[in-house]
Amino acid sequence: MVNQKKIKEAVALFLEGIGEDTGREGLAETPERIARMCEELFAGMEEDASGHLSKTFVIESDEMVLEKDITFYSVCEHHLLPFYGKVHIAYIPDGKVVGISKLARTVEVYARRPQIQEKMTGQIAEAVMKYLQPKGVIVMAEAEHMCMTMRGVKKPGSKTVTLAKKGCFAEDIQLQNDFFRMVGK
Ligand code: ZN
Repeated sequence: MVNQKKIKEAVALFLEGIGEDTGREGLAETPERIARMCEELFAGMEEDASGHLSKTFVIESDEMVLEKDITFYSVCEHHLLPFYGKVHIAYIPDGKVVGISKLARTVEVYARRPQIQEKMTGQIAEAVMKYLQPKGVIVMAEAEHMCMTMRGVKKPGSKTVTLAKKGCFAEDIQLQNDFFRMVGK
């Protein structure tokens, strides 16, 4: 659970720190508002994906299952600014598949915490490997980072792309190419 009291105090101090008048009308409820918002933005910190990935269905096929364009919003742990974009997840089942919405839920678990994109991509792949136990998994994330676009080098529209592959996806170039073709890359 986030500590609402600490967040309220910290936001008030932060506003003072940038030279704001914390008593003015527009800011009076901001510390409280941000404390409440943090419950949602960082909800993934207390979760892992085991619950989402453990409800499986038996299947004979070992053809690729792809869920693409899963939208996510996360917060960069270096600047506490948003980064957001799409995640594509594909796996080769080994006797079982998971409900489609559960892959999106898995993304939420790892996006809703202070994060870096490279780590999030790897965590999603590891969770699918660990809990669903497919023959292999590949995860690609494409995101725009506000710390790149509203400050520093200011390159709006630039995307950071990260990739994690496990099991049969790690070695099989043909399988990787099938994935890239199916996500349109
Ligand atoms: Zn950043």
